[in-house]
Amino acid sequence: MSDSISNISYQSDDSVIEPCLEIHEFEESAPRASFSGLVKNAPRANTSVVNGLSQQLIYQINLIVPDALVSFDDLDVKLGDAAYPFVPPAAKLALQEAIERRGITLVVNSAYRTLAQQMLLYNGRFQNSNPVAAPGTSNHQSGLALDIEDRAGWLPFLQGSGWQLLPNDPPHIDYRGTGARDLRKETILAFQQLWNKNHPNEKIDDDGRWGPETESCLNHSPAMGFDIAPWDDKPRILRLSKPLMEGSDVRKLQEKLRVAGFAISVADGVFGSGTDKAVKEFQQNKGLVADGIVGSKTFEQIA
Ligand SMILES: [Zn+2]
Repeated sequence: MSDSISNISYQSDDSVIEPCLEIHEFEESAPRASFSGLVKNAPRANTSVVNGLSQQLIYQINLIVPDALVSFDDLDVKLGDAAYPFVPPAAKLALQEAIERRGITLVVNSAYRTLAQQMLLYNGRFQNSNPVAAPGTSNHQSGLALDIEDRAGWLPFLQGSGWQLLPNDPPHIDYRGTGARDLRKETILAFQQLWNKNHPNEKIDDDGRWGPETESCLNHSPAMGFDIAPWDDKPRILRLSKPLMEGSDVRKLQEKLRVAGFAISVADGVFGSGTDKAVKEFQQNKGLVADGIVGSKTFEQIA
């Protein structure tokens, strides 16, 4: 089978190969909400401080390429708090089958890394002896990369599924099977489109290429995300997820729940366990399925 797991090296087009083991520690634990300033001033100890912007970027990529990235946080996986568990649907299915066959939890320390997260790592590159790829060029921006624990143990279960090893990088696997599409260009394009939507008088080239202008704009973007969010046009389905959903849509939901008399202590725009509980109670009161998932039915009832 052409897409079977093997140790055969494939050509990597990365300009910089990052040591995955060193980088995942930045994705281990998350604060409650994003840093409230600009990306350039964001503390660099943990990439989850740009969660708000990261959420917008991932959503925008899916507007460019529908279903390019789906979350696998509903599988039996253990995730770092700032790791975005997103891969193409076919890659998720392959993971699901492997996890079911082996019957144990898959530990994923790093997966999709957003342009904003890579910017933080890149801004800190001089304090670090390890190489850091420019935003948009890391293989973790392809949407096809995972860093997992016990890679050797998972190998037999991923055999023939399209997942391949990256030699000399012990935790890293890449999806190269059906439906694999390298999203590095779209990763940059998504940011450029969002920037332009929010800065109609300071537009930049939306060419999907990394350059000084894009770098400067990303550094001058709010870590919590832009005022005009991609879900303003096409509502996002809200739920308790990893990393926690954050944004203007979550804040609006919380405010409405509070007005309706549900216990939301702070409308902080972060969909945590308190919001999940309030949504479930609301759904139960309205005779809806109390699954905590805010789709169009629940939205209609709350609005
Ligand atoms: Zn990796």
